[in-house]
Amino acid sequence: MDSLGLYVSIPFCRAKCTFCNFASDSFAPGRLPAYIETLTREIAHARHRATAIGAPLPELVTTLYLGGGTPSLLSADQVQTVFHLLKSHFTLAPDAEITLEAAPGQLADPTLEAFQHHGVNRLSFGVQSFIDRETAAIGRLHTAAQCLAELDRVRRAGIPNLCLDLIAGLPHQTEASWLHSLDQAIATGVPHLSVYLLELDEDSRLGREALSSGTRYGAAALPTDDDAAHFYELACARLETAGIPQYEISNFAHPGHHSRHNLKYWHREPYLGLGLDAHSMLLTPDGATLRFSNPDDLDRYAVEIAHREQESRGQGSGSPHTKLEPAAASSTHPIAPPPALTILSTRHTPTAACISAVDRLTDQAVLEETLFLGLRTNDGLSTADLARTFPASALAPLAPIFQEAERDGLLRRTNDRITLTPHGRLLSNEVFGRLLAS
Ligand code: SF4
Repeated sequence: MDSLGLYVSIPFCRAKCTFCNFASDSFAPGRLPAYIETLTREIAHARHRATAIGAPLPELVTTLYLGGGTPSLLSADQVQTVFHLLKSHFTLAPDAEITLEAAPGQLADPTLEAFQHHGVNRLSFGVQSFIDRETAAIGRLHTAAQCLAELDRVRRAGIPNLCLDLIAGLPHQTEASWLHSLDQAIATGVPHLSVYLLELDEDSRLGREALSSGTRYGAAALPTDDDAAHFYELACARLETAGIPQYEISNFAHPGHHSRHNLKYWHREPYLGLGLDAHSMLLTPDGATLRFSNPDDLDRYAVEIAHREQESRGQGSGSPHTKLEPAAASSTHPIAPPPALTILSTRHTPTAACISAVDRLTDQAVLEETLFLGLRTNDGLSTADLARTFPASALAPLAPIFQEAERDGLLRRTNDRITLTPHGRLLSNEVFGRLLAS
């Protein structure tokens, strides 16, 4: 694979959403300059580090995604600093897709100009709902009117390639309010929509409240799971009718507006994550898959980058990457593989000079990833590609699982393709679980 995707995490938010369990937080703004400084040092050493772990980086970057967090909170000077380093150490393709995640009302004009100056050509807004009561309940700071005004502003500034995120299953959401949010999103004319089902996690305030039957964050006003699933199915149907067909479990787009960056995740193409809790997948020259991630704590992240610098200067203590042992389960990330995944791999044990482990996936793990990442997309899996890539002995145990899932209405087989049915997309974790159990 001769191109690379880059993900840059800016994990600073103005307020922490009640459902959020990401490493991002409303850190004191005074910590942002130090974070940018650490990030730029990581960027400067990224190529050396990838070579050191056996996966030299492809030269050409075809997609760049600035997420987090709320990277639209950067100042124009900080945007300049980050892009200067990125462009010093990577070659951005002239037609690279460069996406910025933004919170409505948190993208100052000079910052927008700086991002545009450096080639940002796609903006993704975390709207979540066009009902103010629902966004307020989850701790978002914007109103529906502000979202619409923001879309007008960035379009006038010359960025037509826009994406909106919506969440099904928010506190106070009803079928009527969900249809209003969907119709409002369609009416904006944006070419790309992401629709997520709210997942409660005990690491979020809303999740903890749901477990303890509290009332402060609206847990008592959550729709039932069945209602939330119904909202998701309504979205699939409504967006299809509106000419914004689904192309992945959570993503819908006009033809030609698919997220090229996210497709790299689902197609298992190499990407490098930079910044707090950023995940990476690289390929070695002999075709092995390496997965690794950065620490999810600001202080440990800074320590890790300092160690890597020492290592690249040849001052590390001991010889890293010498001992192999079984890996633990992979950690999760909003854009990483689903949490149900257990990576089968060998792991480079961290040493003082290399804090984060690097997992080298086994052939079985590569097969599992190929299955569940491929099935996330509406294109699904190609049986011919599977047969070309994996030995028959590895594929044989899957045949009865596929047949059973087909009988249960979760999978569909047409010619060369295996895809999830609409019902299967709703129960995708069940399908993935059956495949992994095989
Ligand atoms: S959901 Fe997004 S915007 Fe909200 S706190 Fe988490 S990272 Fe920040």
